Amino acid sequence: MLVILSGVSGSGKDTIKKELIKRMKDVISLPSYTSRKPREDEEEGVQYHFVSKEEFEERIRNNEFYEYDVHHENYYGTSRKLLNEKIASGKIIVKDIEVNGTENLINLLKDETKLVTIFLKVDKDELRRRLIERDKNITEDEIQLRLGRQEYEESKINLYDYVIKNDDLEKTVKIIMTIIENENKLEK
Ligand code: 5GP
Repeated sequence: MLVILSGVSGSGKDTIKKELIKRMKDVISLPSYTSRKPREDEEEGVQYHFVSKEEFEERIRNNEFYEYDVHHENYYGTSRKLLNEKIASGKIIVKDIEVNGTENLINLLKDETKLVTIFLKVDKDELRRRLIERDKNITEDEIQLRLGRQEYEESKINLYDYVIKNDDLEKTVKIIMTIIENENKLEK
């Protein structure tokens, strides 16, 4: 089963994913490939496999990705090999991906893999507050860019099985754990 988690940056995806992996047996992550540079707290192979732009393009030519996209001039993509290996392991895979990637994965995988898609919603004022809290030097232009991206992502909300307003992290984690447990029972 593949659980897709979407929502703009600042919606809490990363924290929620970590909590799910920590608290639930048989839940694992699926690192994406990216050409962006690692952030301070990021380790190779955990959230991402970090490669150069050239290596990413080589992997595109070799048809190694189910899907890939460009954000802020960096590539992000889902490895066919990694996803297939993890699906074959029978575990529950949680992947954090934006709306275009979700649409592509649904089209590619819906007939062969059980998919559960979850969108995390945050209201505009709260998102603005979180963006500033995370990066005190963020400019108004950058804030507007993120808020514009939020509008685009929310216009694709119909793709998702579940939409959750993430205004309380602990409650959201518990709701998602319940969804995963129940969807997993339905599969069998
Ligand atoms: P960040 O640079 O903040 O880690 O991620 C930027 C965006 O890329 C996020 O919206 C994240 O969900 C998305 N993303 C991460 N991995 C993938 C992927 O494999 N494919 C696509 N299409 N988007 C991804």
